[in-house]
Amino acid sequence: MKIHILGCGGGIGGRRGGHTSTLMVDDDILVDCGTGVTSLSLEELTRIDHVFLTHAHLDHIACLPLMVDAVGDTRNSPVTVHGLEATLTALKAHIFNGTIWPDFTRIPSLQRPWMRFEPLVGGESVMLRGCRLTAVPVCHTIPAVAYQLDSGQASLVVSGDTGGSCPELWTALNKIENLRTLLIETSFPECDRALADLSGHLCPGLLAEGLERLRGTPDIYITHTKPGQTAQILREVQSRLPARRIQMLNDGQEFTL
Ligand SMILES: [Zn+2]
Ligand SMILES: [Zn+2]
Repeated sequence: MKIHILGCGGGIGGRRGGHTSTLMVDDDILVDCGTGVTSLSLEELTRIDHVFLTHAHLDHIACLPLMVDAVGDTRNSPVTVHGLEATLTALKAHIFNGTIWPDFTRIPSLQRPWMRFEPLVGGESVMLRGCRLTAVPVCHTIPAVAYQLDSGQASLVVSGDTGGSCPELWTALNKIENLRTLLIETSFPECDRALADLSGHLCPGLLAEGLERLRGTPDIYITHTKPGQTAQILREVQSRLPARRIQMLNDGQEFTL
């Protein structure tokens, strides 16, 4: 199972033009559908059968409407969008509502739509081609999940957006025996800790507090940093957690599980 990071920034305009949250599993599954999708060709976009959304915020769903529009008439089956009921309801109400964008769950017909929604609940797993994707509840300003991607040999967890004071995330991570890699957001530098708290994100101090609960020693990469503050955030994380050898995740990076 190959994991390809198409976007991991907390906004656009970061290092080397950085893209927002988009992770591709092999060539047919996406976790989040941010601006990282724009690095795929039309042929590559057409191969995407499943999109798993962490939550409904724009940086994680920005390119879903455009992707479905681009590939709908050349595919033989709908793109399946998985997410919490609250996430899918928000997409229906605010994006695919016939005003901002067409409702592709009904277009071109109810019988043969270009997109279908598949609700999931926290803790639920979906098995696709030997890859198990499990939604792990996290703490954000709206309902949100992380995803565990498990090949059977090893697991990678991508946190999506999560704030501090989220013991359920660390409890869930401690239950994953084959956890090899953790991609964890650290959106803000320490000076913006109040803003991190208010917006349901992590800063280096909050990440350090969370990691005190983590028993294993997976490879840890930080993501979703504010463009322009990435170097500062990484410095602050590394100085607080020298023993963890934490690295920055980069667009284009690949992992094999
Ligand atoms: Zn968010
Ligand atoms: Zn975000």
